[in-house]
Amino acid sequence: MQLDLRDIINAPGEAVSFDYEPDLSDAAGGCIVAVKPGAKAKGSVRNSAGVLYFEADVDAVLECACARCLKEFELPVHRHIHAVLSEGENEDDPDVYALSGESVDVDEIILTDFILNTDQRLLCREDCKGLCVKCGADLNAGPCRCKPETDPRLAVLEQLLE
Ligand SMILES: [Zn+2]
Ligand SMILES: [Zn+2]
Repeated sequence: MQLDLRDIINAPGEAVSFDYEPDLSDAAGGCIVAVKPGAKAKGSVRNSAGVLYFEADVDAVLECACARCLKEFELPVHRHIHAVLSEGENEDDPDVYALSGESVDVDEIILTDFILNTDQRLLCREDCKGLCVKCGADLNAGPCRCKPETDPRLAVLEQLLE
């Protein structure tokens, strides 16, 4: 969404607010299979002494694939985003976004924040046991046949050999 800033760009003290459904489909990639429709973004751009401050609260539900067991699960995320809008690019500061004329692309700011701040190795649960490397069985459902119970005497021997 392009947010029109004409009314505030030269008016210190003024603000313009927004409340809409951002299109975050481009955030998909890696562990993120998709972003469920119905994400919400609410915030404002405020002109404070000539500097444009962007602020947004974003709620979205990510459809993720577990990095260990590949099971798909939903992850609700909330992001609070702060940024400064500037007429020129500032490659050194990731929190500075360029204006496009007298408006700003709010989707782009939210997407960039999501891509930079989402863990690339999401797990369905913290102690996910993953899949057996031999047979591919989901070890969360119980041990597979590849792993016979280790004889305690053999375990001692294995430790000695390590
Ligand atoms: Zn998992
Ligand atoms: Zn197995």
